[in-house]
Amino acid sequence: MSLLQDIVIVGGGTAGWMTAAAMSTVLRGRYRIRVVESDEIGTVGVGEATIPMIQRFNRVVGIDENEFLRETGGTFKLGIEFVDWGRVGDRYMHGFGRLGQDLWSVPFEQYWHRMRALGRAQPLEQYCITRMAAKANKFMPPRTDFGNSPLADIAYAYHFDAHLYARYLRGLSEARGVLRTEGRITHATRRGEGAHAGHVDAVVLESGERIAGELFIDCSGFRGLLIEQTLQTGFEDWTHWLPCDRALAVPSESVKPLTPYTRSTAHRAGWQWRIPLQHRIGNGHVYCSAHVSDDEAAATLLAHLDGKPLADPRPIRFRTGMRRLAWNENVIAIGLAGGFLEPLESTSIHLIQLAVQQLLDFFPDRGFSAPDIAEFNRHSRFHWERIRDFIILHYHLNQRDDSAFWQACAHMTVPDTLREKLDLYRSHGRIVRRDNELFSEVGWIQVMEGQNLTPLRHHPLAELRDEPDTVEYLEGVREVVAKCVAFMPDHAAYVAEHCAAK
Ligand code: FAD
Repeated sequence: MSLLQDIVIVGGGTAGWMTAAAMSTVLRGRYRIRVVESDEIGTVGVGEATIPMIQRFNRVVGIDENEFLRETGGTFKLGIEFVDWGRVGDRYMHGFGRLGQDLWSVPFEQYWHRMRALGRAQPLEQYCITRMAAKANKFMPPRTDFGNSPLADIAYAYHFDAHLYARYLRGLSEARGVLRTEGRITHATRRGEGAHAGHVDAVVLESGERIAGELFIDCSGFRGLLIEQTLQTGFEDWTHWLPCDRALAVPSESVKPLTPYTRSTAHRAGWQWRIPLQHRIGNGHVYCSAHVSDDEAAATLLAHLDGKPLADPRPIRFRTGMRRLAWNENVIAIGLAGGFLEPLESTSIHLIQLAVQQLLDFFPDRGFSAPDIAEFNRHSRFHWERIRDFIILHYHLNQRDDSAFWQACAHMTVPDTLREKLDLYRSHGRIVRRDNELFSEVGWIQVMEGQNLTPLRHHPLAELRDEPDTVEYLEGVREVVAKCVAFMPDHAAYVAEHCAAK
């Protein structure tokens, strides 16, 4: 079967330009790639916090870290601080990377469970370099010359300005031959007959211009111009598990210190993000409109800013869930066109990256193989559902009694896949990561412990070491982490020296 030639990316938000940047890098000029975007419609303009896998994306497309942070006003991110989630007054961090130092027999946290039950362990965060560094506002990238030290293994991500990131990726993509057409698409046309009857064959602009293609990537945002409006793929609604349906976003003035972490503060019927950039702080309130009015949501958001607001809050509406198929006919939906999961664990940009990776793995020829498409869809669904479970965990595992919203979350019936994880953890503190799902054991334990879920027992093999030996081992880890954090430079100083925006 022959190679296809023309790829049309519909939409030039983060999803469109990430896809264009990756494809133009990997496909090396063998295919014609065109991005169609409408300046009048614009982009959603949020999506500023990421997880460590973005480093891999940036490496693949050849982005220099310091230049990228300079261009996007970016900062470093070591984790997410959760405030008031378990109970009002609680505070914990989901730090990236490793926890403790594993021994050969059982995972580190099992020794911690055992010693905690005996009152001989410190809080979990003290064994995690990213959590302690974040608390101290420290940052440095890992240094391989530090051998086995935690300093050689610091996992981190970025905060950046979403508009500037898309602009940066556009420049990079155009330099690699991607063509750009500005204009509003009014509709798409489909093949009427032949082997691929039903495939989209062109998009038509308001100007009357017709842009033909063989493979279409739908990055048109919530509207899903091709995947839904044209192909009517259908949407699987997850609002019964994740009932928030609106957000208000507002930038505010920078304040000191420049924190190397995202903050998520739970409110009466939702939560507020705080994302520190070099030149401003990005804030937003994600809330459930059945439980709180828009006016109250705006007042809550503004009352919890650290600096002065720089604009009026901007409303965004969404529905949580995913398209029944991410790849339908010759259209692949990436980004918000493919579905929406609230940004509680900063996963949307990662899902874009994952979809692009999968598209490259299952890249079609003119035959459009049905088994390949089915595998792409299975893979996509698996990751969406596992991330969904992790986000539901935060809502479900709460002991708040201050609102009907939180009570409903605590009492909801969760997906079986999440129920199994909770039961396993309750029993012996075990966490199983299946099939390379995104969040590791370390991610799950931090949220479960942070929101006050304590296992009934620990792994029996954690008893193989005697008690004094285990205490010494935990203390050793804690001391090493503290020493490493003391060695690290201040986050603001690191940014100023290496990647300060112009
Ligand atoms: P958009 O940005 O909406 O882009 C759509 C593109 O399609 C635009 O270029 C538009 O012009 C074009 N288009 C649409 N219709 C037409 C038409 N008819 N003709 C021509 N062009 C058209 N993700 C994270 O990873 N971290 C976060 O912290 C985070 N926070 C978020 C907070 C909120 C409240 C929301 C809603 C999302 C958040 N996300 C976050 C998700 C993130 O914003 C998106 O995944 C990302 O921005 C991708 O958006 P997109 O490119 O799919 O859509």
